[in-house]
Amino acid sequence: MTSKKNILFLPGDGIGPEVSAEAEKVLVHISELHHIDLDISKMLIGGIAIDQEGSPISKETIEIAKKADAIFLGGVGGPKWDALKPSLKPEKGLLKLRSELDLFANLRPSMSFQGLEDSSSLKKEIIESLDILIVRELTGGIYFGNPREMNAESAFNTMIYSTNEVERIAEVAFEAAMKRNKKICSVDKANVLEVSEFWRKIMIKVSKKYPEVILEHMLVDNAAMQLVQNPKQFDVIVSSNLFGDILSDISSVLSGSIGMLPSASLNSASKGLYEPVHGTAPDIAGKSIANPLASILSIGMMFKYSFSQENISIKIENAVKKVISDGYVTKDIAVNNSKVVSTQEMGDLIIANLN
Ligand code: NAD
Repeated sequence: MTSKKNILFLPGDGIGPEVSAEAEKVLVHISELHHIDLDISKMLIGGIAIDQEGSPISKETIEIAKKADAIFLGGVGGPKWDALKPSLKPEKGLLKLRSELDLFANLRPSMSFQGLEDSSSLKKEIIESLDILIVRELTGGIYFGNPREMNAESAFNTMIYSTNEVERIAEVAFEAAMKRNKKICSVDKANVLEVSEFWRKIMIKVSKKYPEVILEHMLVDNAAMQLVQNPKQFDVIVSSNLFGDILSDISSVLSGSIGMLPSASLNSASKGLYEPVHGTAPDIAGKSIANPLASILSIGMMFKYSFSQENISIKIENAVKKVISDGYVTKDIAVNNSKVVSTQEMGDLIIANLN
């Protein structure tokens, strides 16, 4: 028996509670199979927290999150709260959680699944067997840099990175590359921006600690083009907050459906916030048709990155692959001849294939 794992679930809004329930079901089941003792707590975040507690995340929730070993988040936001001031919106809850826990490293794998190639907008041969990982710096760069201002005549933001900020994201990317194909592409705009020149220098410095890993650099405009033209050339991509935001969204459509993509946001102690890449899908909320696989795969990432149990992560991934290749899908990824199942039935199928 391994030590007790303290997991906080933040189901959130829209389809968040539906996909969280399936993620929890799989977490509980796999923990029983592997004799892992769990302590699961649940709190509110986002719009539902605004409605019931008066703010998008309460101090109590932040404190529980700080004590948890890992956190799962369903999603936040929806039209009901769109008219609120930016500082009071549901998204503020997520941003606060990321900054309070210093979750600076966002990991987004993008892979193709056998049987789902036809749901991608790219040709089958371009995405077949695709498996890339985007490592995005999440708490620095132009989204947070000061000074920032907008007045009647002009507006500006500041893209700034310190040595420590670049070093720590580089370390995460190199460590990930060591567990994969030992190849990193660092994406920047070093031909124009000093901040990118600095980023590149530090990437090279950190690479000396990892002689087995091949480091290459690519300008962000070229990287965007290469991602859709020949995505399989990449293994790990590391980038700043702004560039990583754009590249990870491009990579998210490669595999066909946003409903399939998990993510992890980690701090330096490998505490992680695990969440599907998709949002709260208000258009399908409450209909039991949401795809829970991104959430279930996020539980797989939890075992890999926060609990160093990659065997369990692989087991979950294999169960997802098996269910898809058996032809079972949710509505969003249905193609001809697929057997369409509900959110809950998909969770049950994954469990059946974990045994
Ligand atoms: P979305 O990802 O919620 O939905 C985009 C489209 O994909 C919709 O047609 C939706 O039905 C579909 N979709 C998404 N997830 C799906 C799933 N699991 N299964 C089946 N279909 C799925 O993006 P959006 O419509 O731009 O945003 C809706 C709300 O979600 C907004 O309030 C937005 O701010 C919020 N949002 C939250 C997060 C987050 O919490 N991390 C991320 C993105 C968007």
